[in-house]
Amino acid sequence: MLDWLIVGAGLHGVHLAHVLLQRGGVPRSRLRLLDPHPTPLTRWRHLTANVGMTFLRSPSVHHIGLDADDLYRFARSAAGRWLTEFRDPYHRPSLALFNAHADAIVRKHRFDELLLSGSVCGLQRVRRGWRVITEQGDLVVRRVVLAIGRTALHRPEWARAAADPRIVHIFEPGFERERLLSTERIVVVGGGISAAQTATVLARAGHPEVTLVMRQPIRKAHFDSDPCWNGPKCLTKFWHTRSYVERRRQIQTGRYRGTMPHDVARELLQLVGDQRIALKIAEVTTCTVTPGGTLCVHLNSNETIAADRVLLATGFDQARPGSPWLDRVIVSEGLPCAPCGYPIPDKTLAWAPDLYVSGALAELELGATAPNLRGARLAAERLLCAVN
Ligand SMILES: Cc1cc2nc3c(=O)[nH]c(=O)nc-3n(C[C@H](O)[C@H](O)[C@H](O)COP(=O)(O)OP(=O)(O)OC[C@H]3O[C@@H](n4cnc5c(N)ncnc54)[C@H](O)[C@@H]3O)c2cc1C
Repeated sequence: MLDWLIVGAGLHGVHLAHVLLQRGGVPRSRLRLLDPHPTPLTRWRHLTANVGMTFLRSPSVHHIGLDADDLYRFARSAAGRWLTEFRDPYHRPSLALFNAHADAIVRKHRFDELLLSGSVCGLQRVRRGWRVITEQGDLVVRRVVLAIGRTALHRPEWARAAADPRIVHIFEPGFERERLLSTERIVVVGGGISAAQTATVLARAGHPEVTLVMRQPIRKAHFDSDPCWNGPKCLTKFWHTRSYVERRRQIQTGRYRGTMPHDVARELLQLVGDQRIALKIAEVTTCTVTPGGTLCVHLNSNETIAADRVLLATGFDQARPGSPWLDRVIVSEGLPCAPCGYPIPDKTLAWAPDLYVSGALAELELGATAPNLRGARLAAERLLCAVN
């Protein structure tokens, strides 16, 4: 029987596996990752490539290595030197450098050999462990860690009503930005960093008509949450808060949704100034199709934009990840949830004996940065306490 099964081989799952093996003394033969993708970190690569991200939003101390300065040391090594690029303030690494470092870790510890292929669709408590039900068969393991990332995308009501296959979410598994025809007229909808990056990369790639529709004027912020969440200032207050309704409120006010860092805003505004991106501050009301098949995006400013493709850069649904299979497990296993539907784990991130959570599923214990790299590092520290 495996001692540890980590469900999800994204940045969180791989970092947790790395720490459990290297710092937790877990033997390699006793741990596996489970993911439907053929290689670790596939989803991260897909999403970041689609938005054309060049630099991370987080600082260089946030990565999947063990020590805070690992990425910096990698950047000075022979393997990383040719990629060394950081953006100040906060010394944010380039995506190329971050990925090269992550690849080096995956290769060094042969994480691809620890990867089992499958999608979890159920969990059952058994004597001394859990039965993990997957579409490919069942596994009985001692401990399970859910590191499944955010699973549902946010699609505005007008997009759902239009139900046109040319309206796609940029985080959809099947969407490949590189496959868009260079002649397509594209409308990008969204107000945050991913919308800005997507419009920027499309305009730079030479798409003749790129329109970005944002509900509000550009809002700049270095990070996607208040930096106080990186230290005791916000976390101490959060941990002293017993009400999970109040914890949820603190997370919501601490997050800077729909914002972008200053350099991303600068690049976007440069292209707007050069008339390579049309920026509309308005809300989409409906999307219709002309008899000739052109998409018409109607705005509350009474403008209509003709398009061949509409890209939704509207982020993830904020509901608890894992629906619908996790809903059934919550009921059948009586797992504790707050009024917002999110897990109430203990300090070691155990949601039930031998069932642990990371990422957004752990946010009522780890706070606003739980889904980010910083959250993966916090989760690993907590899991180590469970091992020891
Ligand atoms: C474009 C983009 C840029 C970002 N930039 C940053 C940044 O600069 N800094 C930062 O700190 N954060 C950033 N984030 C936020 C966050 O760090 C990333 O989303 C990160 O990929 C989250 O890692 P994860 O492992 O939780 O999720 P994912 O990368 O989504 O991995 C989850 C894995 O779980 C698997 N899975 C899901 N359900 C199941 C199931 N039922 N059974 C088996 N496997 C399952 C999925 O296939 C997936 O491989 C960014 C996010 C995005 C989308």
